[in-house]
Amino acid sequence: MARVLLLAGTGHARRLAADLIAAGHDVTASLAGATKDPAAYPCPSRVGGFGGPTGLASHLQATDPDALIDATHPFAAQISDNARKAAAITGTTLLRLARPEWKPEQGEKWQSVATLEAAAAALPPGARAFLATGRKSLSAFQHRSDIWCALRQVDPPKAPFPGNGKFIIARPPFDTASETKLFASLVITHLVAKNAGGTEARTKLTAAATLGIPIIMVQRPDEGTFQTHTTAEILACLAQA
Ligand code: NAP
Repeated sequence: MARVLLLAGTGHARRLAADLIAAGHDVTASLAGATKDPAAYPCPSRVGGFGGPTGLASHLQATDPDALIDATHPFAAQISDNARKAAAITGTTLLRLARPEWKPEQGEKWQSVATLEAAAAALPPGARAFLATGRKSLSAFQHRSDIWCALRQVDPPKAPFPGNGKFIIARPPFDTASETKLFASLVITHLVAKNAGGTEARTKLTAAATLGIPIIMVQRPDEGTFQTHTTAEILACLAQA
């Protein structure tokens, strides 16, 4: 049995936690505290930042896990960078859950862009955009008073939608049929998405293709040549811990 600190906050992390527990490991999930009422984990969890790489290193020194697993979202670049630095400082084994990027599939009309700002610039005047890019992304689109946006987020907003558009409050996962219905009912002309990877969140791309809606795909932040691991590789590594 290995003791593991799992950097979490995604459906992938929740499923990995369940797989690790089924294999007999002792898992603590770490959540940023980004959502008010996070989905339940099948293991003990802690909530909130560590205080940068040195804070995470201190936490690792105090709790001495056999491994640190980074199963955070591919766009959560800061915590992944912190994890690499803290693991190097403490000599903790670090495993990064693999989440291969999406590639365009049949019928999907992609325009790849490097940033949220470039995604905002790519939308034509009069567009009705569905922003599947998360709560923190809205500021990149706010200057576009010539478009309408629907921004999906988990928690109800603290203030009305700033400008032209509306919040869609919903918690993933979403199936293809409900995504198709939603985009059609909002008369969406463009989908803006982050290239998160994984099968669950891909339904929005399939729905966009069904309706002929172009997809503006924000590429991932560069993680360099960092090695990633499948669930099977993580289990094999922990079996030797
Ligand atoms: P981020 O920019 O990489 O991290 C910002 C700060 O939040 C980190 O420096 C760290 O604070 C804290 N933090 C992030 N993840 C944490 C975790 N799992 N446990 C403890 N502290 C954590 O992250 P973000 O983009 O704001 O995402 C926050 C969380 O939401 C992540 O756990 C991620 O998996 C999840 N999420 C993100 C996205 C996305 O698009 N970014 C989408 C879905 C889910 P300290 O430096 O103080 O330790």
